[in-house]
Amino acid sequence: MKIHTIGGYNEVGKNMTVVELADDAIIFDAGFYMPAIVEMQEEENSTHQEYTEKKLRNNGALPDDVFVQKLGLRNKIRAILLGHAHLDHIGAVPYTSYRYNAPVVGTPFTISVLKKIMEDAKIKIPNKISPVNPNSTFIVKGKKRNYRAEFINITHSTLQTSMIALHTPEGIVLYANDFKLDNTPVLGLPPNYEALKRIAKQGVKVLIVDSLYSGSETKTPSEKIARALLEETLLTIENKKSAIFVATFSSHIARIKSIVDFSKKLNRKVYFLGRSLKKYTTAAIEVNMCPFKNEIQIGSYPKQVESILRKVAKDRESSLVVCTGHQGEPGSILDRLSRGKLPFEFKKNDNIIFSSKTIPAPVNIANKESMDKRFKKMGIRVFDRVHVSGHGGKEDLRDLISLINPENIIPAHGALHQLTPMIELAREMGYRINKECHLMQDGQKLRL
Ligand SMILES: [Zn+2]
Repeated sequence: MKIHTIGGYNEVGKNMTVVELADDAIIFDAGFYMPAIVEMQEEENSTHQEYTEKKLRNNGALPDDVFVQKLGLRNKIRAILLGHAHLDHIGAVPYTSYRYNAPVVGTPFTISVLKKIMEDAKIKIPNKISPVNPNSTFIVKGKKRNYRAEFINITHSTLQTSMIALHTPEGIVLYANDFKLDNTPVLGLPPNYEALKRIAKQGVKVLIVDSLYSGSETKTPSEKIARALLEETLLTIENKKSAIFVATFSSHIARIKSIVDFSKKLNRKVYFLGRSLKKYTTAAIEVNMCPFKNEIQIGSYPKQVESILRKVAKDRESSLVVCTGHQGEPGSILDRLSRGKLPFEFKKNDNIIFSSKTIPAPVNIANKESMDKRFKKMGIRVFDRVHVSGHGGKEDLRDLISLINPENIIPAHGALHQLTPMIELAREMGYRINKECHLMQDGQKLRL
């Protein structure tokens, strides 16, 4: 087999990998490079919904799948398999998948989010779109044979994330991008260790693995720790008379559940503000994974947002607002609040809790810093990083490799400095560089 590393091997984002077999080829993920999207929004004061493929491509927001055509693979693609619902894994699907006569496959939540993105962008794709339940199998129809693609449930920072085990005559390809090993997720199923043990026995030819935090000497804590951090912040600070705003990842439904749970304890009514919160919450409701659906009021259109904020301004002691803008994204609710562009006036000692971490791209760091400054000028208490990551650290990776015992390892999901520690770990575990562990870059191929 050949592995083509299309995107996500030089940077964090635009994830895309192609596995080429005799007569067939299969795509894993097609994601956005988010910093490019943010920059475009900043320059033009617009949203990605308004962009064309050409424009996104010229700005470096899409994986270079034109390269797939240059390799002569276009007519061999038999499926586009999606690991989870994050935009850096599925954002490019609406702009690239029409080229391939292949179904787009993912878990129900992933598919639901994808459909919402396409509705927003007013894009229709000719591909069949097939949801597959967590811990079940999709059959990929090849030219002369079929392949089983197992969607093995794993934990991450959004719902129904899968490791995808593609069964081929040459062994199993395990696509593990992204994950952490969380045995106590707040929402959804724990990792399916039984399935992972079983495929390990069957023989994993190659593990393509999320190595973003392979350099951090730790096991990433469970989501229950993030829940405890939120509990401590929300329930022990002096906030009886002040407003509380919480910003977090819209796709992190488990985190949002914790926020809603603790607002109930505070006897505060919960409001969600922002389009992406609406999008992901609606997707969670559609797949029956939104336990708080009756306890929230969502505002996404400008008029709804404004009327909710007016209500909150009058009723600040008994409201809690969850909103977009944890990265200081221009045009997000929090960004506009910080610029006084929305009908809500902060008072001294109001609280803003970031249940998030700034994604370390220069554009995000700059946006977040200047937004924080504006808030601090208003006398607001800012609680940053009430958060744990969805990406495994070095010790999660060590456990996964011990469990899977793959023949080959390909680190993914990062630039060179993020992938190198994974190679170091693999070497420590007996893998030889360029023999069994392979440091790849965008646009390369590896023959196994
Ligand atoms: Zn992810």
